[in-house]
Amino acid sequence: MKQTEILAVGAGPAGLTAGIYASRSGHKVLVIEKAFAGGQMALTSEVENYPGFSEPVGGMLLAQTMEQQATRFGCEMLNAEATGIAVTPGGFEVTTTAGPIAAMTVIICSGVKPKQLDVPGEKELAGRGVSYCAICDGPLFKGKDVAVLGGGDSALDEALYLSNIVARVHVIHRRDEFRACKLAQQRLRERANVDYHLSCVVESFDGTQRLSGLTVKNLKDASNYSLPVAGAFIYVGWLPNTGWCSNLLALDDDGNIKADDRLRTNVPGIFAAGDVRNTPLRQVATAVGDGALAAISAHDYLIGKR
Ligand code: NAP
Repeated sequence: MKQTEILAVGAGPAGLTAGIYASRSGHKVLVIEKAFAGGQMALTSEVENYPGFSEPVGGMLLAQTMEQQATRFGCEMLNAEATGIAVTPGGFEVTTTAGPIAAMTVIICSGVKPKQLDVPGEKELAGRGVSYCAICDGPLFKGKDVAVLGGGDSALDEALYLSNIVARVHVIHRRDEFRACKLAQQRLRERANVDYHLSCVVESFDGTQRLSGLTVKNLKDASNYSLPVAGAFIYVGWLPNTGWCSNLLALDDDGNIKADDRLRTNVPGIFAAGDVRNTPLRQVATAVGDGALAAISAHDYLIGKR
């Protein structure tokens, strides 16, 4: 069985930073990731509020650079998905798609997944016009009309990105006011090819083989109308990836892992960092800070055990 002192589950900014700090402290560190380094950050077209870059930097580039920095200090990366976790006499055993891993401490940085709307047609047309990732799928809709659902920073940032590629972007939001920051709202307002459907919700995603349009409900007058679009990008929030570890860990009402100010969970030796924990702010900068703190807390835990 693969063995390590510190296992970080998830290679987003939190996991990669934990890898940098823990390896640099001289520990044997393994970071596992089911997809690609960077997590949600890697799927972000441009990051412009992470300090150190005077110009916007691509999320994927930032992820690759963080990964190179971690491996430079000896951190090992493994492509694997965690499927379960159990306490053992020596620490923990994490079962993964690449086999079980024995670890003395575990830092959970498994991030979040996109929240679904759960309206008719969404599941059936996912990957056939319905998408949760503008940077992955946006170029498929060059010159066509698309919708972006949601009113937070993700929705407005990705609507801006899409407006460079597609013919027209329809932003559909359930309220009259956006949750997104003023700068994102202002930038989008300057685009001539963006339409707004405020106080509106999507009642169904329509189409047989592919998405052909949406049925939209105006909440103010309860009227329904059809909106023909070839693509719909859903950005209505995120759900923490905790299904594999919820047997051991205390979660809050929203399913986030509860962690204290040293990022200790309810299980001694398990720490939580980044978007997966109960945090008031989900940013690359805060995930990086979490990764650093979790690595040092794991270090202190191991020292205490020696
Ligand atoms: P979010 O802030 O939670 O926004 C989710 C949006 O979806 C809200 O506008 C919400 O409407 C809407 N929504 C939720 N459930 C819905 C439903 N069932 N039907 C229709 N609409 C629904 O999520 P986010 O935009 O992904 O951002 C997550 C965090 O990452 C935030 O802290 C954000 O600031 C941060 N972020 C930052 C940046 C940046 O700094 N550039 C970029 C991306 C994300 P209501 O507003 O009515 O609740």
